[in-house]
Amino acid sequence: MTDLPPLGHGGRLTIDLAALRANWRRLSHEAQCPETAAVIKADAYGCGIAEAGPALWREGCWTFFVAHLSEGVRARAALPEAAIYVLNGFPPGSAPAYRESDLRPVLGSIEEVAEWAAANRAEGTTRPAALHVDTGMNRLGLSVAEGLALAGDPVVAQAGIDLLMSHLVSAEVEHDPLTDHQAAEFARVRAAYPGIRASLANSSGDFLASCRADLARPGYALYGGNPRPGHDNPMRPVVRLEATILQVREVAAGETAGYNARWTASGPRRLATLSLGYADGFPRASTGRGEAVVGGVRCPFVGNVSMDLIILDVTGAPAEAAVRGAPATLIGDGLDLDTVGRHAGTIGYEILTGLGRRYARVYRD
Ligand SMILES: *Cc1c(COP(=O)(O)O)cnc(C)c1O
Repeated sequence: MTDLPPLGHGGRLTIDLAALRANWRRLSHEAQCPETAAVIKADAYGCGIAEAGPALWREGCWTFFVAHLSEGVRARAALPEAAIYVLNGFPPGSAPAYRESDLRPVLGSIEEVAEWAAANRAEGTTRPAALHVDTGMNRLGLSVAEGLALAGDPVVAQAGIDLLMSHLVSAEVEHDPLTDHQAAEFARVRAAYPGIRASLANSSGDFLASCRADLARPGYALYGGNPRPGHDNPMRPVVRLEATILQVREVAAGETAGYNARWTASGPRRLATLSLGYADGFPRASTGRGEAVVGGVRCPFVGNVSMDLIILDVTGAPAEAAVRGAPATLIGDGLDLDTVGRHAGTIGYEILTGLGRRYARVYRD
């Protein structure tokens, strides 16, 4: 039974690096940009920066984005030669830390641009950085007016600005007029920075002609998330999560299961208890809606998801598949990230980035 999670762990998380690489290739093709980067923030969306980063590098990905300086330091250890941008800008006084790991801050205010330029002048270098212009998110970045006013100022060259970027608000929503507005605003700013590369598209933006620029910046879709909700997912699944069935029991009509007796059997049912719970990173909010696949059949969760256990109604599953020691699939076998997210009242992004450290992790390539 090679499908069993290694003993001592509740769940087994299998990460398919070949699928990750295939997804990057697919997105490079789709984006029609001269270069496609990879966003590997939040430990490569939970998949492991030390494994995902080098796999993408070997595929030909040379530019990476992380959120925090500390993530940049980890990315640098895994990717000695890559260009690594840090999306959350740079906290005051942190320029030496950026230089030590050869990281590029994404500068999002006049103050940050000035501080990075001053650090460059003090060092007698022009270490590169990106400039973030906010075209509608109102979160990080210079306003369009500030971006236009800054163009041509010598501080831009002193700050080593080699990439102009903006971030899409709702690229996954089909025909959202806000996306076209953002693309038009970005084009206006871009025209003021000739010779500097530009980047606009995230995963969903990769599929929109209006968002093409010099560098695509996908994250979620690399890891198997659907960049086009409402359409078939063009990406290959990267993450598979399985648990082991610990026990199977029969219950009669009227019996309850789990904490606070939130579920009552409407008739005779067969229940299986899985070796995985919310402390492993599987959302408790899936209570009453979650599903797992046993012997090819989707079986519903019953009762509250507990800390280390989930109860499954396996009445509909083949009897030989629903036995002690057999696997149940929580992500995979048709249960994709977006569905699992929906069952927990959230999005697939949160499922991915919440994948726990408690799972046995297996990398395939
Ligand atoms: C997270 C992030 C991305 C990647 O977005 P996905 O939707 O995961 O593809 C791109 N750009 C910025 C600025 C981000 O914060």
